[in-house]
Amino acid sequence: MFKSINPATGDEIGTYPELTSEELEGKVARAASRFASWRFSPVPERTQLLEKIAEIFDTRLEPMARMASAEMGKTLVSARAEVQKCAAAFRYYAQNGEAFLKPRPIAGAKGEVHLLPLGVILAVMPWNFPYWQAVRFLAPTILAGNVGLLKHASIVQGVAGMIEEAVIAAGAPDGLFQNLAIKSGNVAALIADERVAAVTLTGSEGAGRSVAVAAGGALKKAVLELGGSDPFIVMPSADLDLAVKAAVTARIQNSGQSCVCAKRMIVHADVYDAFAERFIAGMLAAKAGDPMDPASDMGPLSSFEQMDTVLGQLEEAKAAGATLIGGEALPGKGAYIGGGVLTGVPLDSKLAHEEIFGPIAMLFKVADIDEAIRLANAIPFGLGSSVWTREPAEEARFIVGIEAGMTAVNQMLASAPEAPFGGIKRSGHGRELGQWGLHEFMNVKTVLRSGTSGGPDRS
Ligand code: NAP
Repeated sequence: MFKSINPATGDEIGTYPELTSEELEGKVARAASRFASWRFSPVPERTQLLEKIAEIFDTRLEPMARMASAEMGKTLVSARAEVQKCAAAFRYYAQNGEAFLKPRPIAGAKGEVHLLPLGVILAVMPWNFPYWQAVRFLAPTILAGNVGLLKHASIVQGVAGMIEEAVIAAGAPDGLFQNLAIKSGNVAALIADERVAAVTLTGSEGAGRSVAVAAGGALKKAVLELGGSDPFIVMPSADLDLAVKAAVTARIQNSGQSCVCAKRMIVHADVYDAFAERFIAGMLAAKAGDPMDPASDMGPLSSFEQMDTVLGQLEEAKAAGATLIGGEALPGKGAYIGGGVLTGVPLDSKLAHEEIFGPIAMLFKVADIDEAIRLANAIPFGLGSSVWTREPAEEARFIVGIEAGMTAVNQMLASAPEAPFGGIKRSGHGRELGQWGLHEFMNVKTVLRSGTSGGPDRS
């Protein structure tokens, strides 16, 4: 049985039965059977379905947003924006579907590349953007002609059910997309199941490693979107007003529980004091409170366990010699932590190499761009980054020098339906969104017609 607990109050708000093994088998069989016909579906049928799902998300905006807010504590304002962004992603794939899937000629050969579906795709998703993470997989899955199975995070089973209901209400054929209320212990066996073609996981490093091992053992494709500790680098030429505002927004959004919200502020010595004073003031002024109240800048953390994890990391950081300003558990029933800043985090300490999934930033001072890039890269992750400079030469050095899948210049990093999203190093591999995300789970099939020589050895 899964239980949803409202982290703002500690109250139980729903229970969801776990699938029996017979039910799970039935769903996998339905998915496989749907793929047998869906793979031949004309692209306009897929794009019309995507448009229809977008409409349903629009119509159900309020109850869907309220469910996310209640289950994992995000503010209602941001939950609404998340549901709207999902609708936009369905439309993006609907409107670009024909162009993305068109066979492409092969220069120099008589033939084309056809983009064909792979089969049943299993998605293992986290709670932090409970609609958006699932939709990043679901929209391209439908367009590709694939079939989807979702194993969502245990704490957002209400959201998982609402996604499935929306897809069914849009008229999706039976078995095209199914929610699996299962525990993570079932995932490896599902990956090994011959009816499952590939797997995508968004989540922690540990979960990523388990899924990668299972996928490797079964020789199946895996896309992994894992954690990060993104640098946010401020150089002397930056517009400091904009940089401070973006840094605070980036670090407190979703109560600091976003894989790409800037976590390490790396500031040039010339502007360090000015930035630090205003940034710390901004973090301390962020109002943590009832997520349903539009005056709250952030809600609680997603669960009491998540809160304990973050508070434990902060204790370790202090024991290692760092200074914590703010960042305390707030009195009351909910899993609230106020905004905070860590200074003096020793570079060889555990926390300097970890992700903090809460509204706490680490602040570092650097002497020059070389030190900034060195520090930015001195972690096992390589997801996002944000750089603030008005010097074109510095911008060019950052773009090449920072080891990350994404770099935002003079703005905070955010995902968008059209922009490839993903990381390198231990932040994972593969991409979601845009054409790149669509092609991850497609068979790039070469079709050669008579008249192509194949070269002298004909191998
Ligand atoms: P998590 O514990 O790894 O959970 C993510 C999903 O994986 C959940 O469905 C979870 O199921 C499942 N899971 C956990 N352990 C597993 C295992 N050994 N085998 C198979 N599945 C397993 O991560 P989280 O704490 O929910 O999410 C936060 C993490 O996700 C952060 O590290 C964050 O940076 C990362 N994230 C990355 C991106 C990105 O695009 N790169 C985006 C968002 C979040 P249960 O809930 O049932 O345990």
